[in-house]
Amino acid sequence: MSQATAAPVTTGPDGMETVESFRLRARAWLAENMPRLPEATDDVAPEGDDDAAWVRARELQRTLWDGGFAGICYPKQYGGLGLSEAHQHAFTEESLPYEMPLLLNVPTLSICAPVILDMGTEEQKLEHLPKVLRGDEVLVQFLSEPSGGSDLAGLITRADRDGDVFRINGAKTWSTSAYAADFGLCLTRTDATVPKHRGLTMFLIPTKAPGITMRRITQVNGSTEFCEEFFDDLVVPASSVVGEVNGGWTVGSRQLFHERTAVGGGSPYVSGQGARSAGTAKLDLAELARETGQGDDPRVKELVGEAYAQEKVQEALIGRIVSAVEKGQFPGPSASIIRLFHAETDQQHVDYEVAIAGSAAVTGPAGQRSAGYAGQHYLMRQGASLGGGSTEMARNIISERILGMPREHAADRDVPFNEVKRGR
Ligand SMILES: Cc1cc2nc3c(=O)[nH]c(=O)nc-3n(C[C@H](O)[C@H](O)[C@H](O)COP(=O)(O)OP(=O)(O)OC[C@H]3O[C@@H](n4cnc5c(N)ncnc54)[C@H](O)[C@@H]3O)c2cc1C
Repeated sequence: MSQATAAPVTTGPDGMETVESFRLRARAWLAENMPRLPEATDDVAPEGDDDAAWVRARELQRTLWDGGFAGICYPKQYGGLGLSEAHQHAFTEESLPYEMPLLLNVPTLSICAPVILDMGTEEQKLEHLPKVLRGDEVLVQFLSEPSGGSDLAGLITRADRDGDVFRINGAKTWSTSAYAADFGLCLTRTDATVPKHRGLTMFLIPTKAPGITMRRITQVNGSTEFCEEFFDDLVVPASSVVGEVNGGWTVGSRQLFHERTAVGGGSPYVSGQGARSAGTAKLDLAELARETGQGDDPRVKELVGEAYAQEKVQEALIGRIVSAVEKGQFPGPSASIIRLFHAETDQQHVDYEVAIAGSAAVTGPAGQRSAGYAGQHYLMRQGASLGGGSTEMARNIISERILGMPREHAADRDVPFNEVKRGR
């Protein structure tokens, strides 16, 4: 393995390596150490539910770590490089021709690890973050429950204190890739005698501990990357609390911020071109138009152009929102704007894939980068407006917390949780 230090390092007046120097070093290192992607691949099979793909992602992350290119925006004391988003951006641009551990981007690197970084104890940061950056630990989110995910603060999974430990009982669902993970951030209720937001606690729990039964959920497109978990007296030490006991809403809110930013495409912790998840690879609309003999059709050209323009607007919007939130010019909930725009853009793209593919969307071969895939991809269409919180909730946040419109009625506001009426 050649070391990243082989190429010269140029630093700026602030003592930090310049972006250009970092880019050149990354370019040379990537060429020598990361496997090139095949020239053209027809295979768009889901990666998220393939065990070998997870082993591969961990290996690739380890290669980045050994070469000194893991955790570009993570602080140095936890194994990162302590560099800026511009450095990460340069690395991502250089990494496009190479195989990268994209499966680790969401939620491990861009949601869960940043929550530990922002809200964890020093021991938790030192214990988990270097392992994450080395590819030794995969993290997931245990938030949604069978009773519903939008009203997150209304969750019913309990954690009861028992001396030095907590006992967790309840159920979580829709946990992306939990079967491949080592630890999960699990939001629980620790006090039901106070209003819902004030009695929650976040835990970082091992996914393979006795007391957890995990099952994989088969989706309509055949993917089994989602899991559901049942907790029966799962015992966890008090040291696994992230943040304060009964302060879980603060931690959960931070997690939702990172989630909306990641899903919206603006996380500084994502390395390489985005995330890879089951059945979500996009088709190139211009190629699809040519493949189906419609390259000169004005109606089709209009669809291709419109989708391209929307993606360009999305890129610009992400840049604008992320930098404004960073500078404190926009409030944190603004991450919901890019999360909402992601769903609109993604769903428009899928709709145009089907519109251009026509009947070939259902008759063509699936799992190939061709018209037949459009029908398969369409089955995942609604995921874009649910994963990372629904678009309805994003609209609520934008209207209430950014535009200052009146808050929607909530019958449980300021009512102790155990006095709130609930359906069975
Ligand atoms: C691709 C994907 C990945 C996911 N990964 C994870 C994961 O890793 N971990 C995890 O915990 N969860 C995960 N989820 C679950 C996701 O967070 C939930 O699906 C989402 O929060 C919505 O919750 P729900 O499905 O229970 O729908 P519900 O909360 O039951 O909502 C049903 C519908 O009612 C609407 N609705 C609800 N309340 C309101 C309101 N107040 N105003 C307006 N409309 C409302 C919703 O928008 C939705 O359309 C994932 C989901 C997807 C699709």
